Amino acid sequence: TASAVNDLKARVAAEDVRYLMASYVDMHGVSKTKMVPAPHLEHMLAGSEMFTGAALDGVPQKVSDDEVAAHPDPDSFMILPWDPSTAWLASDLWLKDEPFEACSRGILKRQTAKAAELGFRFNLGMEAEFYVLKDNAGFDPVSPRQLSKPCYDASSVLDNMEWLKELVGAMNGLGWDVYSFDQEDGLGQFEIDFTYADAVKMSDRFVFLRMMANHIARKHGLFASFMPKPYANRTGSGAHFNMSLADLATGGNLFADEADPRGCGLSKLGYQFTAGVVRHLPAICAVVAPTVNSYKRLVKQGSMSGFTWAPIFACYGNNNRTNAVRIPLGGGRIELRSADSACNPYLGAAMVLAAGLEGIAEGLDPGEPNRNNMYEVSQEELDRRGIRQLPRTLGEALDAFEADPLSRKVMGDGMADAWLAYKRDEWLSYMAHVSDWETKRYLKFF
Ligand code: GLU
Ligand code: MG
Ligand code: MG
Repeated sequence: TASAVNDLKARVAAEDVRYLMASYVDMHGVSKTKMVPAPHLEHMLAGSEMFTGAALDGVPQKVSDDEVAAHPDPDSFMILPWDPSTAWLASDLWLKDEPFEACSRGILKRQTAKAAELGFRFNLGMEAEFYVLKDNAGFDPVSPRQLSKPCYDASSVLDNMEWLKELVGAMNGLGWDVYSFDQEDGLGQFEIDFTYADAVKMSDRFVFLRMMANHIARKHGLFASFMPKPYANRTGSGAHFNMSLADLATGGNLFADEADPRGCGLSKLGYQFTAGVVRHLPAICAVVAPTVNSYKRLVKQGSMSGFTWAPIFACYGNNNRTNAVRIPLGGGRIELRSADSACNPYLGAAMVLAAGLEGIAEGLDPGEPNRNNMYEVSQEELDRRGIRQLPRTLGEALDAFEADPLSRKVMGDGMADAWLAYKRDEWLSYMAHVSDWETKRYLKFF
C-alpha cells in the first residue's frame, strides 16, 4: 500500500540506509538477493528486481524462460545489525502479473491463507541449534574445554559471551525477544531461543538468523555451522518447530486447555492438528530434515556415549523428548522435533500446517499420548500400537514424500518435481560415494 511505501521511505531516510536487499530464498532456504541503492526503493518495492530462475536450485525454470521478480514485503524490513548501511527485505516471487507457484514464501502463504479462512493464525517458534567452529581450523569446535557432559555448562557459555552477546544483542535489536540461550548438549554447540511469531515472519527470521550468525561469527574469527550432524559422537543440531493456532480475531491460543482430560494442557483442536501431523510425518521429514546428513541425527545413539535427544519413531507424546511430536510441559503448543537447522522453514512450516489442518478438517484423534521412553520400547509394542519408524535415510524420506499426495498439494507440481529431482540426485551422489569408513573396513578384509 502507498502508506507502507511512504513509511519505509521515511525509515530508510531517517536511519540513513544506503542499500536495500530484495531477498528471497532458493529451495534450501538460503537468502539470494540483488542489492538496490536506496534511491530506487520505490521501483524495488514495485518488483523491479528480476532473477533468472534457472540459476538457482529448485526454481523450476529453463534458462530460456522469463525471469521471476522479487516483490519485497515492507513488513519484513531489517537493518543488518553488523552493517547498518544496508537493510534486508524478504520477498515473494512473481512471474509476470501473478505470484510464482514455486516460491517458498508463497507456498507457506498459500497455507497460512487457508488457515486464515478458518479463522486461525499459525504461530511458530523455531529453536535454533548450531555449532560454532574456529574458522579455518578444520573441525575444531570453539570450546577449549574437554567435558564429557558439556550440556548447560556455565563456563563454556561464558567463554563464548563475546560473540554471543553480539548475536543475541543483534536479535533483540531487531525485536525478536530472545528469552534464553545456552551451551547445548554437544561441546561447541549453542541454542538461542526467541519468542514465536506468525509462521511467515518466523521463517523470514530463521533465514536471516542463519546468515547473521555467520556474519557475526566471522567478525570473531569463527564459523557458525547449521549442519544437522557435524560430529558422529555429538548431538545434532535440531530446529524444533513449536506450534499453535491462535484465534485470528482475538489472538487467543486455541491449543490451550487446562482441563485437558489427557493431562497435557492441549485442546481438542490441538490433538486434531497433532494427529494430522503424525499421519504425514514421513513426508514431512523429507522437508524438515532435508539432507543426507539429517538422517545421521535422527538416531537413538549412533557412536555417542549417551543419547541423541532426536526422534526415531513417528509418534507423539507428553513432555518426553523421545517423541517426534511432543507436548511440552504446560501445554498450549506442540513441538515437532524431527526438524533440523538445515531446513527451508517456509516449506517445512507449509507442510506441517497443511497436515495439521487436514487433521482438523477430518476431526482426527491421535489417541493417547505416548509416555514411554521411545529409545527403549520393544518391537512387539511398536507392532501392537502400529507405530512407524521415521525414514532412516534421505532416500526413504523421499519415497515417503513422493508417495504422499499432501506433498504435491502443498508445494505445487513445479516445486514438488524440482525438489524430488534435486534431492534424488543428492541421495544418489551420496550413495555412489565410497567413504573412508568403507575402505578402512573392507579394503584388506578378505
Ligand atoms: N539437539 C537435539 C536435537 O537434535 C535437541 C535437544 C533439545 O531437546 O533441546 O534435536
Ligand atoms: Mg535444544
Ligand atoms: Mg525444543
